[in-house]
Formats: sequence, C-alpha cells, structure tokens
Amino acid sequence: MTDVVIAGGGPTGLMLACELRLAGVDVTVLDRLPGRRGESRAGGLHARTLEVLDQRGVADRFLTPGRPRNVGHFSGLWLDFSRLPTRYPFVLNLLQTQVEQLLEQWAAELGVRVRWSSEVTGVRQGADGVEVAVADGTTFDAAYLAGCDGGRSTVRRLAGIEFPGTPATLTALLGDVELTDPPGEPVFMRRTEHGDFSVLGFEPGWYRVMTTEYDRVAGRDEPVTADRLRESLVKIAGTDFGMHSPRWISRYGDAARQAADYRRGRVLLAGDAAHIHYPAGGQGLNTGVQDAVNLGWKLAAVVRGHAPESLLDTYHAERHPVGHRVLHNTRAQTALGRPGAQTEALREVFAGLIEIDDVNSALAGMISALDVRYPLGDADPLLGRRVPDLDLVTERGATRLFTLLHPGRAVLLDLAGDPELAAVARSWPGRLDLVAAKCTQPVPDAVLIRPDGHVAWVAPQGAEALRAACTTWLGQGR
Ligand SMILES: Cc1cc2nc3c(=O)[nH]c(=O)nc-3n(C[C@H](O)[C@H](O)[C@H](O)COP(=O)(O)OP(=O)(O)OC[C@H]3O[C@@H](n4cnc5c(N)ncnc54)[C@H](O)[C@@H]3O)c2cc1C
Repeated sequence: MTDVVIAGGGPTGLMLACELRLAGVDVTVLDRLPGRRGESRAGGLHARTLEVLDQRGVADRFLTPGRPRNVGHFSGLWLDFSRLPTRYPFVLNLLQTQVEQLLEQWAAELGVRVRWSSEVTGVRQGADGVEVAVADGTTFDAAYLAGCDGGRSTVRRLAGIEFPGTPATLTALLGDVELTDPPGEPVFMRRTEHGDFSVLGFEPGWYRVMTTEYDRVAGRDEPVTADRLRESLVKIAGTDFGMHSPRWISRYGDAARQAADYRRGRVLLAGDAAHIHYPAGGQGLNTGVQDAVNLGWKLAAVVRGHAPESLLDTYHAERHPVGHRVLHNTRAQTALGRPGAQTEALREVFAGLIEIDDVNSALAGMISALDVRYPLGDADPLLGRRVPDLDLVTERGATRLFTLLHPGRAVLLDLAGDPELAAVARSWPGRLDLVAAKCTQPVPDAVLIRPDGHVAWVAPQGAEALRAACTTWLGQGR
C-alpha cells in the first residue's frame, strides 16, 4: 500500500512526486517507458515555473545549465520579458530532457521511487482507495491515483473523464537534424503563403527545424519521416537547408482539449493528461508543473488526514480555468498564424497593439503565468495571486520570502508585530510557520501564504477571516 500512485514520470508526475514527498507522503511513480528517452519536445521554462522551483530551493539547478532569453512571443510577435515583475524576467532555454533529469534527481533525493516498464492498464476505485493494475500483472493499492500520463492518458479514459475540445486544423512537423546549408541567422516562424517555418540552432552541431502547414490535417496513421519533413520544408521555405542525420522527427497539431473534471473520486489528472493544445509560446510543460504545485500540498493534506477531501475540489476550481485560458490563447495564436489576406490584416493590427507597453506586459504576464489569480475573493487585490519574492529581515538575518516556503508549509508573515497572529499560528502547529519580519518594500501588515506561494489572507482582514482561511486551506486547527 502506498499513499499515492502517480501514472507518468514526465515533468508533471515528477514535480507532483516531489511536492508529495516534501510533505511526507509515500509515493510510487509508474511509467510505461523502459527508461528516460532523450527526446525533448519543450525547450523552455517560464518565469512562474522558475519561481515555484525557487520556492522549493532548487531553481539554481535549472538556471545553471539553462540559457536565459528576455524575449518571448505571441504567435511570433515579440514579447518583452525583461520587465516582468520577478527575479526571473526571462524564459530559460533548457531542453525538456534536462528538465526531467533534474526533476528526477531531486525526486530521488526526496525518496521517490520511479518504476519503469510499468504501464498502467487498469484502475478500480473503492470507498477507501484505488487499485492500479500494471501491464506486467502487478497491482498497486493506493489512497489516490494521479494521472500524469500525457495527452493520451489511459488514467483519464479508465476514470471515464471526458476530454472535450476542438480538433486539429493544421499539421506541424519537427526535426532535430544537421544542416549542410543553414540560414545565416536563426529563423523563427517565418511566414510564407504555404505556412511557416523555423530553423533554430538548439545545441552545437544540430538544429531544430519546424514547419506548420495550415492547409492539411495529417491522419493519425500517416508515417512521420524525414522525407515528409524535407518535403514540407521545400514547400514552405523553398529549400531543405541540406538537412540530414535526423535524431528525432515528430509531428504535432493544434487539437485543444481539456478534461471535463480534474478529479473523479480518488483519481486526479494533471499536466497534458488534463489539457492539450498547440505548443505556441511554450506553455504545456510549464502549466503541468504548476498544476502539480497546486495539487501536491492539497493532496498531502488530505492523505495525512489534516484536511477534508473537499479540499481536492479546489484543485479543479483553480486549475481548470487556468488550463482553459492556455487553450484559448494558443487557439488565438494559431488563428493569427494562418496564411491569407484577412490574417495578414489582423496580424498587422495586432503587431501595432503589441507595441503598446501595457498590451505587451499583459501578454507577457499571461504567457509566463505570473498573472494567474485564483478566485479567493475580492477583499484585497493580492488575494489569490502569487506572492512576490520580497527581501526580508527576520531575527535570523536577511532572507527572501521564497526561502520561507522551502519546507512546503504555509507561512503566516507578520510584518507589523501583531501579537494576535501568534495565537492563530498555535492552532496549526507543523502546518503553518509564523515568521515575523521587516520589509523595506511597501507591503501589508500581514499575509497568509499557501504552500504553493499564493496569497490566502491579507491584513487588515481580521483574525476571524484569518482563522477561516487557515481552516479552508490547512484543515481544522486545534
Ligand atoms: C513541439 C513541441 C514543443 C513544445 N515546447 C514546449 C515548451 O517550450 N514549453 C512548454 O512548457 N511545453 C512545451 N511543449 C509541451 C510539453 O512537451 C508537454 O506539455 C509536457 O511534456 C507535458 O508533461 P507531462 O508530464 O504532463 O506529460 P508527458 O511529458 O507526456 O509525460 C507523460 C508520461 O507518462 C507516461 N505514460 C503514458 N501512458 C502511461 C501509462 N498508461 N502508464 C504509465 N505511464 C504512462 C509516458 O511514458 C510519459 O513519460 C511542447 C510540445 C511540443 C509537441
């Protein structure tokens, strides 16, 4: 018996495993692959993902091998990340395989077991738990099952959760290849009448080449070959840039679907299992990691008996709208990418608008996910938002707010020496850390910060509201 089985050892499953272990929950990760593959769909971590890693004290592991770039894009139109209100005003270029390796290493340090060659094929829910069957005949009993098993999630299907959305309208191809005749400069989303193409120097010696054909939808069984990519490049770019020695060729589309429920009883969905969309703006992996950070501490609180099961419903309530918005903005990006006179006109208007600082910042906030606000009430504009990483001075010396979140517990930050807060904190021992600090930036007198870094209560809301917030998020106090 294990507390939680996680199906899928991709970025979402690994992040969820780390969050659960940090809270002392027993976790088994099952993945159908025989071991980690070297392929990388994603190539970047956005600011909010770097912040959540920083909240756990592991951001440096990712920053060291990564390459920061302070520009992003919306359908190929440039976004300025350098003004984002964060310590990480950039997108960090880092291959998905490296992200997975670093997460796996951290997970191993926390005591997570990843069991490879373990395809989940059966799920049976009972009143007290869930039985998870694996293709080799083994079964696992757990209190909860998290389906982090990607876009074609078996767990989602077995749990009977619908996956409504819009079908693919285009065909995109990707190749990690060598080029004998590369373009002089990197090419990103260059548009022609037949579609668009990109040629990016990903790592020394090889390039990532991508094409998008808006006038056809590939059949599921159509083979994905280097010849097909070459043909597509010649059609759109007029040359294949002398491509050869492919390491990986892949095809993807713009189908945009989202699980109708992120929870069905004892089964939860996160990451691509909960939402798929066109990879415009590089948001999929990031959204999945952030799903995991929203779910982990809640699931841990329920498993450990601190909070009622209903806490898990707030995971759907908070993350489903976020996923919905990602689907929407990627649909908008593909609409802006389509060839044709009308789209050209729309792009021209949009290109003018995106030059306006406020518009550019709003879109940068959306793509980086720094602007996410959970519906925790309107009593204060900070409620539901992620807390910024303030510089603080506590009795132990200078620190940063994110450092206080490393243990994965909620923090009640007292910035004005209110004696009433200590009485509240005493009711949630081991679940809530009271920290008295000084801050030179303009801040409220006190803030309750959930383990995921979102603000759940702000002074001058009174002690009663604070107790109510603690009960909602941490369970009954003493
Ligand atoms: C071309 C392209 C570029 C992209 N670029 C970006 C980017 O720059 N930034 C970004 O954020 N996102 C990007 N994405 C999206 C990103 O790759 C995905 O969103 C991300 O991999 C999702 O992570 P996940 O852990 O949820 O699922 P996955 O990475 O799909 O992992 C699922 C895991 O579950 C396992 N599994 C599947 N079925 C079972 C089963 N039955 N039992 C056990 N295990 C199972 C699989 O083997 C796999 O290891 C891109 C996608 C594409 C196609």
